[in-house]
Amino acid sequence: RILYYRKGKTPRRPAPKKPTNNQKDPVGVYCRVRPLGADDEECCVEVISSTTIQLHAPDGLKANRNGEFKETQYSFKKVFGIKTTQRELFEDVAKPLVDDLIHCKNGLLFTYGVTGSGKTHTMTGSPGQGGLLPRSLDMIFNSIGPYQAKRFVFKPDEKNGMEVQNQVDALLERQKRESQQSVPKTPSSRQKVDPEFADMISPEDACKCEGVDEDSSYSVFVSYIEIYNNYIYDLLEEAPFDPIKPKAPQSKILREDQNHNMYVAGCTELEVKSTEEAFEVFWRGQKKRRIANTQLNRESSRSHSVFIIKLAQAPLDADGDNVLQDKNQVNVSQLCLVDLAGSERTSRTRAEGSRLREAGNINQSLMTLRTCIEVLRENQMCGTNKMVPYRDSKVTHLFKNYFDGEGKVRMVVCVNPKADDYEETMLVMRFAEMTQEVEVARPVDRPICGFAAGRRQRNQAFKEELSRRLEERGGPVDGGIAPQKKILQNLPPVPSCEISDPSDDLTLPRVIECMEKRMKMRQMFTEEYNKAGMIFLASMLQDLDGKLLSKENFLHEQRGKLGEKDKMIQNQKNEIDRLEKKSKMLEYKIDILQKTTNIYEEDKRSLQQELDSREHRLQRELSEKKRMEARLHGMVSDEKLRWQKECERRVNAKELEMQNKLWVKDEKLKQLKAIVTETKTDSRPEKPQRPSREKDRVPGDVIKTRGGGQAVQFTDIETLKQETPVAPSRKRRSSETGPNQDDKDGDWTDVETRCSVAVEMRAGSNLGPGYQHHGYPKRRKP
Ligand code: ADP
Ligand code: MG
Repeated sequence: RILYYRKGKTPRRPAPKKPTNNQKDPVGVYCRVRPLGADDEECCVEVISSTTIQLHAPDGLKANRNGEFKETQYSFKKVFGIKTTQRELFEDVAKPLVDDLIHCKNGLLFTYGVTGSGKTHTMTGSPGQGGLLPRSLDMIFNSIGPYQAKRFVFKPDEKNGMEVQNQVDALLERQKRESQQSVPKTPSSRQKVDPEFADMISPEDACKCEGVDEDSSYSVFVSYIEIYNNYIYDLLEEAPFDPIKPKAPQSKILREDQNHNMYVAGCTELEVKSTEEAFEVFWRGQKKRRIANTQLNRESSRSHSVFIIKLAQAPLDADGDNVLQDKNQVNVSQLCLVDLAGSERTSRTRAEGSRLREAGNINQSLMTLRTCIEVLRENQMCGTNKMVPYRDSKVTHLFKNYFDGEGKVRMVVCVNPKADDYEETMLVMRFAEMTQEVEVARPVDRPICGFAAGRRQRNQAFKEELSRRLEERGGPVDGGIAPQKKILQNLPPVPSCEISDPSDDLTLPRVIECMEKRMKMRQMFTEEYNKAGMIFLASMLQDLDGKLLSKENFLHEQRGKLGEKDKMIQNQKNEIDRLEKKSKMLEYKIDILQKTTNIYEEDKRSLQQELDSREHRLQRELSEKKRMEARLHGMVSDEKLRWQKECERRVNAKELEMQNKLWVKDEKLKQLKAIVTETKTDSRPEKPQRPSREKDRVPGDVIKTRGGGQAVQFTDIETLKQETPVAPSRKRRSSETGPNQDDKDGDWTDVETRCSVAVEMRAGSNLGPGYQHHGYPKRRKP
C-alpha cells in the first residue's frame, strides 16, 4: 500500500498564492425521508423534529435479538419529512451552493443512502418534480443569462484551467465547429425539447441569485462522469457507436492540476448556454449510461454518477465591451453533484460472480469514503496528522481537494423508512452523524478587479444610442445590402441581348446604351451614397468632436476637482502632521508622567512597607501587653485567694480562740457556781463537763505551753472529722456549695493540721492542777 502511495504521488509543486482562510464549516448533512412504498408496510423511521429522527427496531428484529436494538435518535442540520417538496429541499440545500458557485466558490453535494431510498429522486427527479440538479442549472442560467460570453470565448485548456480568447477568434472557432458537424448539436430554445425533461421545473419555481457581477462575462461548462467498479467513464464522450459489436467504453484517469485540484483527464467539457441545452446534455449522458448498463449487464445502483458544473467568469475590459484578455483574471468555480451508489452491503443483494466483484468494489469505494471521513474527523478532533487514504478510491480521490483545500460540502442522506432497510439505515445514520463532525475550510471571497463598476451598462447604453441616431439619419448602417437592392430596383431593365440574326445592328447598341445609362446611374447613386456617407460621417465626426469636447471639459472639470481634492488632501496631511506632532508631544508628556508616577509609586510602596512593619510591631507589643495583663490578673487573683484563705484561717483561729476563752470562762463560772453550791450543800465538786459529746476522747495530745498553760495538739484529724456532728446549717451550706464541699473539708483539715492550732490557755494558772483542756475543732456548736 505504501508503494502504491509513493508511485501515485505527484511531485509537490509550490502551492499557488491563494488567500488563506482559517474559518471552517462542518459538512452540512441533511436527511430526507421518502414516503413508504405501500401503506401497509412496516415503518421504522420517525421524524421527531426538524432536526432529529428516531429509528425504531422492527418487531421481528426485536423478538429475534433481545434488547440489542435500542431506539436511537440521530440529529442533522435539517430533516426533511415525507411531505417535503423538491423545491423546499432545493431552497435549503442546493441554493446556497449555486450562490457560492456564481461567487467563485466551489461546492460539493452528494446523496447517500440505500438503493431505493430516493437518492436519484433527490438529485435528478422526474418531469414535474425536478431534483437538485436541474434546479441548480436553472438557477444558474436565470442568474447569469444576460451576462453570458459568446461561445468559445472561454476555452478549457485540457489541464483543468480556462483560457480566454477574443471575439474574432471565438467566432472563427464557432464557424469551424459548425462546418465540422452538419447537424446543430445544441437545440435553440425554440426547438422542441425532449419530452423526458420538458417540464422538470415549473416556471413559478424559477429562482435566481442576487448580487451577480454584471461587469463580468460568464460561461457554463458541464461534464458528466460515471464511476463504476472504480473506473471512470466519460458519459458525454462522442464515440462512434458500433451497434453490431459494441465496444466497452474507455476509462479515464485522474490528474492533479497546478492548484492541487483533481480532475478527470481528457473528460468532455461542453459549453452550454441555456437550461434546456444543459438538460439535453445531461439526458444524453443519462441515456448513454442506461445503454451501457443494459449492454454490459451492469446494475445502475452500483455506480456513482458525478455531474460537474463549471462556471468560468472574467471581468469585462474597461470599455465594458469585451472580456478582458487575461488568463489570470479568469475565475473558474465548480459545483459537483454526486449521486452515490447504494450503500447497502453485498449480502443484501443477491450478487453473483462478476457482479459480486463489482459490488465489492463499490462497497470498497464507499468504505474508503467512510474511512477518509473517519480519519479526517480524528485528525481534526485529536490534532493528529494521519494520512487520509483518498487515493484508495476514485470517488474520494476526485474530491480530495474539497476536504483538504476549501469549499462547501453538503450531503443529503436519503432514508426509506421501511422496516426491511432498518439495519442498513442504521449504518447510514451512523456514517452521516460522523460526517457532520468533519470541518472544511470556508472558501474565501475572490478579490475584485480594478475597473470601475457599471461598464456593461454604459457600453450597452452607448450602443443603443448609436443605433438610434443612425436610424434617425436615414436607415441603419448595417443594412449594407439594402441600398444596393434599392439601386438595382431603380436601374432601367436590361433589354434582351439575344442576337439571332447576324445582321442585327440594333440589339448591341441598345444594350450598350442601357449599360451606359445604368453605369451613369450607378455612378450617380454611388456619388450620392458617398456624399450621404460623407455627410453622415461628418455629422458623426462633429458629434464625436462635440462629445470629445464635452469629455475634455468634463476632464478639465474633474482635473480642477482633483486639484481641489489634492489641496484638501495636502491640508489634511498637514493637519495629520500637526496632530502627529501633538500626539508625540503628548506621548512624551505621558512618558514623563509615567516616570513620575513610577517614582511616587515606589515611594508609596516603601512607605507602605514601613507602615506595615510598624503596625506589625505595634500588634506584637499589644499582644505582649495583653499577655502580661492576663498574667498579672492571674497573679492578683492568686494572691487574693491566698490572702482570703489566710484571713479565713486567721479568723477561724481567732474564733476558736475566743470560743475556747468563752468556754474557759464558762468553766470558771461553773466551778464558781459549784463552789458556791458546795459550800451550801457541802458536797464534792463534780468534774467539769466538756460541751462535747465526746468528752471521753481527746483527739490529740495535750502539751504544756511555754506560758505555763496547756495546748491541744490535734493528731487524729480523721476521727475528729468523722465524728464531728454536722450542724444543720453547715449541711445546708455544703449542699449549696456542692462539689466544693471536699475542698472546704480539705481546707478545714488543712488549717487544722498545718496550724496545729495551738490554743494557749493562760487560764491554766487560774485552773487547778490536773485540769486538762481539750481543744475543740472549729465551728463546733457547744
Ligand atoms: P435510489 O436512487 O436511492 O436508488 P430512487 O431515487 O431511484 O432511489 O427512488 C426509488 C423510488 O422511490 C423511485 O420510484 C422514486 O420515484 C421514489 N421516491 C424516492 N424518493 C421519493 C420521495 N421523496 N417522494 C416520492 N417518491 C420518491
Ligand atoms: Mg439511484
